[in-house]
Amino acid sequence: MNPRKLIATARALRELGFGEVYITEGHKEPVKEKEDKAELLRKLYKQMEEERKCILYEGASGYVFGEGDPNSPVVFIGEAPGEEEDKLKRPFVGRAGQYLNIKLEQVGLKREKVYITNVVKSRPPGNRTPTREEMMTCLPYLRKEIEIIKPKLLVCLGSTAIKGILGKEYPITKYRGQIFPYPYNPSIKVFLTYHPAYVLRNPSADKEFTEDLKKVVQLISQA
Ligand code: URA
Repeated sequence: MNPRKLIATARALRELGFGEVYITEGHKEPVKEKEDKAELLRKLYKQMEEERKCILYEGASGYVFGEGDPNSPVVFIGEAPGEEEDKLKRPFVGRAGQYLNIKLEQVGLKREKVYITNVVKSRPPGNRTPTREEMMTCLPYLRKEIEIIKPKLLVCLGSTAIKGILGKEYPITKYRGQIFPYPYNPSIKVFLTYHPAYVLRNPSADKEFTEDLKKVVQLISQA
């Protein structure tokens, strides 16, 4: 609205008895924030590429960054890219990823509406578990991703993600389904569950994995 009209409208409202008139432009700010988060993530990924501090880069075909909606209330965190992810440069697109997609749909979540990333950003040789040192070199970037997205909830998929996010081991069979505060920002909740590859190898865990994902939906729906 043109500023003169705006002032005239504010005066008219005051004459009608409104003490204070706030102009929030509510429709504009969220749009800007959306752009900002996507842009900040792009910058972060560019910085990662330039710095190459997150090791394992050389043996793999490069980094696989997080993907999805940067405004999602939930971020799913896996271990590291596998062969298919390394080829396509996208997280969770191999067998475990396809299974995760099906499970997300089952509980009413769309993959493109959540954010999915990994602790380690490039493929460990032969898909082995990343070492502590490999994790340590990549964690600052994961923390920055979380700081930019500011989700309500982090979902750790399996033990590497748990160790990376909470800083120590929590045996998954004992702690799955439990919630912890995120040490770097306690207003963000951390939810622990299985890695989808584990569930594929142990189909009896599917029921618990479904229960966990339903809980995730509940947690992000709460105010
Ligand atoms: N497993 C992971 O932990 N991350 C991926 O991106 C794919 C498989």
